[in-house]
Amino acid sequence: MQEKGTISIHTENIFPIIKKFLYSDTEIFLRELVSNAVDATQKIKRLASLGQYNGELGDLRVEVAFDADRKTITISDNGIGMTAEEIKKYINQIAFSGATEFMEKFKEAKDANEIIGRFGLGFYSAFMVADKVEIETLSYQDGATPAHWVCDGSTEFEISEGSLAERGTEITLHINAESEEFLSKHKLQEILDKYCKFLPVPIKFGTKEDSIEDGVDEEGKTKYKTVEEDNIINDTNPIWTKSPNELKDEDYLKFYKELYPFSEDPLFWIHLNVDYPFNLTGVLYFPKVKNDFEFQKNKIKLFSRQVFITEEVKDIVPEFLMLLHGVIDSPDIPLNVSRSFLQADSNVKKINSYITKKVADKLGDLFKNDRKAYEEKWSDIGLFVKYGAISDEKFYDKAKDFVLLTNTAKENFTLTEYKEKVVGTQTDKDGQLIYLYTNDADKQDSFIQSANKKGYDVLLMNSPIDNHFISQLEHKLEKTSLKRVDADVADKLIKKDDAPEHVLTEEQTKQVKEIFDKAINKPAYRVELESLHPDELPVTVTMDEFMRRMKDMAAMGGGMGFYGSMPDNYKVIVNGNHKLISRILNNENADEQAQLAKQAFDLALLSQGLLTGAELTEFVNRSVNLI
Ligand code: ADP
Repeated sequence: MQEKGTISIHTENIFPIIKKFLYSDTEIFLRELVSNAVDATQKIKRLASLGQYNGELGDLRVEVAFDADRKTITISDNGIGMTAEEIKKYINQIAFSGATEFMEKFKEAKDANEIIGRFGLGFYSAFMVADKVEIETLSYQDGATPAHWVCDGSTEFEISEGSLAERGTEITLHINAESEEFLSKHKLQEILDKYCKFLPVPIKFGTKEDSIEDGVDEEGKTKYKTVEEDNIINDTNPIWTKSPNELKDEDYLKFYKELYPFSEDPLFWIHLNVDYPFNLTGVLYFPKVKNDFEFQKNKIKLFSRQVFITEEVKDIVPEFLMLLHGVIDSPDIPLNVSRSFLQADSNVKKINSYITKKVADKLGDLFKNDRKAYEEKWSDIGLFVKYGAISDEKFYDKAKDFVLLTNTAKENFTLTEYKEKVVGTQTDKDGQLIYLYTNDADKQDSFIQSANKKGYDVLLMNSPIDNHFISQLEHKLEKTSLKRVDADVADKLIKKDDAPEHVLTEEQTKQVKEIFDKAINKPAYRVELESLHPDELPVTVTMDEFMRRMKDMAAMGGGMGFYGSMPDNYKVIVNGNHKLISRILNNENADEQAQLAKQAFDLALLSQGLLTGAELTEFVNRSVNLI
C-alpha cells in the first residue's frame, strides 16, 4: 500500500525561496519541530484527562538525537501521533498552505524582512536544513496503523505503511550539505538551551560519541568506546509557571543566576501573573545598573507557552523598562507578524500598560513600606524611574509620589517634600520657585558653597538622563524652574529685591570694566560689573542657563545646529563691592592693575577647572612673582 501525491502549492520551487529568505535564522527549525512534539504530548495528556484516551500514557517526553555518520537529526515524541489521513490533512494541506500564502505575498512584497516575520514557519521550516524529511508515526486511536511519509523538498511526497510500534511520531531530517554544522553535539545543545530550556515536557538529548579508551588493542591501535548519553536538558517547571506564594527569595535569585550567570544579584523583582483580559506570566528583575545602560538592553526573554521566542521585546515592554531583566510568557502575543502590526495589536498595548502599572505599583509599595531600603536602592532604580516619568504619562502620575530628588548633602526628598523645604528661601521676587542643581559637584564646588552660604539648597543632577528629567520637572511643576548653580553668581541666581547698594560710582564702574577687558582680552569672555555682597568672590565666570542647555542639547545630537556651532560664551562677573576691586582701582600703576585683574580672573577660572595648559603655567609663574 503506497500512495504518491502532490502537495497543493502553485509554485514548484517554493523551498529554495523559503530557504533563501530564512537563511539567517535556520536554527529555529529545531524550535518548531520540538514545539510540535511537545504539543503532541500535551494533547495526549489532555485527551487522557478528558477520558477520551484510556491507554497507558507512559513517561511523556520528547527526544532529540543526531547521527553524524548518517547525517540525520531525529525528533521523536510519544504524543498523539497521526494517521495517514491526518498527515495528508495537517502536513500536506495545512502546514504547506502557509507556504502558498507566502508565495503569493512574496510576489508583491517589497521588504524581505516583512515576509519572514509574517508566516508561521511550522513544520516546513525543516526544509531549511534538510533535503529530505521523513515522518514515522502511529496514532493513539484504537486500531490505527503506523504511517510513513517522505518528502524531498519538492512538492512531491510519498506515503506508505510505517513501522513504528509505539504511539507517537518520529521525524527524521536528512541534513543538507550547507547545514552540516547542525550535526554537532555542541551546536544542537546550544540551540536547545536557547529555545527549549523551559519547555513543559522533558526533552532528552541523546548523544553518541566515540571516546578514546585507555590503552591499545592487539594490533596496537587506540581503543575507542562509544559513549551514549541521554540528558534531560530542560526545566519543565520554571518559576514563572509557579504561584508567587510557593516561592522564596532564594528561588528568584537562583533563577536569576541561571538566566544571567555573570550578573550581580538583582535589587528586587516583580512576579507577573494575569489571565484576563490576556494571559501573561513572568518575572521581571531590577538589575543593578551602571550608567552604561545601552549595554543592558535586550535582557528580557519572551516566551510563548514556555518556548523561547526572542529577546526583542520592543513594543511589548515599555521602552523605559527595557533595562529590566527576566522573562515574560504570553500565548497572546502574536509572534509571527511584522513590527507595525505588533504596535497596533490591542493585546500588545494592554500588556504594555499592564507591565507599566505593575512596575509602578511595586515601586510605590517599596517606597511606602520601607523608605530606608528604597532610598538605599535609589541610585540604581533612579534611572528607571526618571526614564519612565519622562517617557510615559501614566507612569509619571504614579511616579511623582516616589521619584526622589537628592541634594549635595545626599539627602533625599519627594517632590512635595522638596518644595516645602525650599519654598521659603528660593522663591524669586516674581513668585517663581527656583531649584538649583549641579551636574558636577567637584567642579562647581565654589558655586555650591556660595549658594549654601545664602541658605540655598543644591540638587545633584548627574545621571545621563537628568537633562531630560529637568525639562520634565519644569513642565510638570507649577511656577518652578531649574538653574544650574554656576549659571550666575549666587546673588543673582534667584532674583530678589534685596540687592546690595553699589559702592562704585558710574565712572569707576566704567574704569573697572576697561581694566578687566584689557587684562582678559578674549572675545568669549564678556565682563560685567555687579554689586554683590562684599564677601562674595571678587570675580566669577558663569555661563547662562539657556545658552548652556542649548549647547548641551546640540552636543547630544538634538539637532540644534545653530547653537551647536556657537562658540562658548562666558560672563565674567566682577563684584564691584569687593575690597579687592577697590584696591585694583586705587592702584596707580597700570601694569600692576592689569596683573591683579588677570590674577583675579585666573583664580575664578581655576576654581572651576577652566584654567589649563600654558595659561595655568603662566598663572603659577605670575603668582610666584606676586608673592
Ligand atoms: P502548527 O504547529 O502551527 O499547527 P505545523 O506546520 O508546525 O503548524 O504543524 C502542522 C500540524 O501537523 C500540527 O498542527 C499538528 O496537527 C501536526 N503535527 C506536526 N507535528 C506533529 C507531531 N510531532 N505529532 C503530532 N502531530 C503533529
